[in-house]
Amino acid sequence: MFEALGQRFTSLFSGLRGKVSQAQLVEFSSDIKNALLDSDVALLVADKFSKQVLEEFNNQAESINKSTNPSQKIFEIVNAQLTQILGGSERRLKFAKVAPTVILLIGLQGAGKTSLAGKLANYLKLQGNTPLLVAADLQRPNAVNQLQVVGESTKTPVFAPEPGNGVGNPISVAKAGVEFAKEKLHNFVIIDTAGRTGIDQELMNQVTSIRDAVKPDEIFFVVDAMTGQDAAVTAKAFADGVGFDAVVLTKLDGDARGGAALSIVEITGKPIIFASTGEKISDFDLFYPDRMASRILGMGDVASLAEQAKRAMPEETSKKLEDKFVKGEEFTFEDFLSQLEAMKNMGSMSKLMGLLPGAAGMKKQIENFDESELVRTRAIIQSMTPMERNDPKVLNGSRRSRIALGSGRAVSEINSLVERFSQAQKMMKQMRGGNMPAGLPNIGSMPKPQQSNNIPKKKSRSGNPAKRALEEGI
Ligand code: GDP
Repeated sequence: MFEALGQRFTSLFSGLRGKVSQAQLVEFSSDIKNALLDSDVALLVADKFSKQVLEEFNNQAESINKSTNPSQKIFEIVNAQLTQILGGSERRLKFAKVAPTVILLIGLQGAGKTSLAGKLANYLKLQGNTPLLVAADLQRPNAVNQLQVVGESTKTPVFAPEPGNGVGNPISVAKAGVEFAKEKLHNFVIIDTAGRTGIDQELMNQVTSIRDAVKPDEIFFVVDAMTGQDAAVTAKAFADGVGFDAVVLTKLDGDARGGAALSIVEITGKPIIFASTGEKISDFDLFYPDRMASRILGMGDVASLAEQAKRAMPEETSKKLEDKFVKGEEFTFEDFLSQLEAMKNMGSMSKLMGLLPGAAGMKKQIENFDESELVRTRAIIQSMTPMERNDPKVLNGSRRSRIALGSGRAVSEINSLVERFSQAQKMMKQMRGGNMPAGLPNIGSMPKPQQSNNIPKKKSRSGNPAKRALEEGI
């Protein structure tokens, strides 16, 4: 996500050293404009952004000059402006005064509306809501069926009285869906509508009629981030033709260059509410402008990573690890296994690594990460007895051979895991002693950004050693 733009920013910042002259600041802001244009950001937006950045440089010229670390100050200014262009603060979902809250999803065909309906339903359910999905895309072949499958996988009821594939009236279905939700006491209704491959009047008319029939509390425009600047153009057409309350960006996991995210708020005046980052139902979260800015600037998204870790690890496991850490007890293979299990729940390792500071510079390593390594490691630990897991020092040659046999791996792999594990144990000890171990991701010559409110403070309390390492690494 936004790797190219991230790399451009990283190299721009590494070019700033020591005192920075006015001429350098002017050049820097014009370099930013070019970097944005290359990332498919609309000209109007890139222009405005670079002017605003320069204006802020001028406003804060004195403090930049006086600062012992001018590049740090400049970084902070760009970070704040970038957060602003992405919408400032996050937009939360609005609830209707009287349930159900009706959400209408609109957008072009293939934008990801149907998949998003399922992700949104799942997200709402996890928060204790009782959503109903309404199949009002009666145009796209198989859309009704797809929604039913999505509903089944998230255990969300689907209101689908018509077969679709061109049959049925979407306005009546949407209306009846809301009535059905009222009757069955669903507190959210998510209406999936038909798109077209391009903007056309018939589509706009149909969506407008559905809007007028159901009077939604929220209209979300769903757009494929990979379409770059086109996304902003489509958004504008929908904003003028139908109107919407917020944008959902999908396919942010692809090679989106950043254009859509960075142009859309400015062009439509509407915030981005959710981001979809993959095809899995859980690849979905609220959109946080400050976290996105941080990612674009190569600082990773440690706040999201910590949240995901918290969600993935059962409370008692994380409490147990925390207690161990505080008491100075040894980190064992048993603990390691519970972390691996939690990582399994967190999704792909490459995605998690993408959230680390400096991820833009680790593109190759992230792409080449072998996910099956985790499966192999799990298998090895699972072949150990509880005693071996808790006291790896007992792992002599014959025990290692037995584990190799049990896990179907070579003895050399067992040796290597035990070796790496004892190094990790040493690292934990160093951290407990207050020393930062070497080898954690560093951000090269990037200036250290100011800590955002969303990012955990450096003085971490987490007992999850992996999480703690991350938290202390920023
Ligand atoms: P609709 O026509 O707007 O309802 O679009 P769909 O929900 O059918 O999505 C179109 C395609 O995009 C499907 O193959 C989805 O699996 C895929 N898709 C949707 N969201 C994402 C995403 O965030 N990332 C990726 N990689 N694919 C997505």
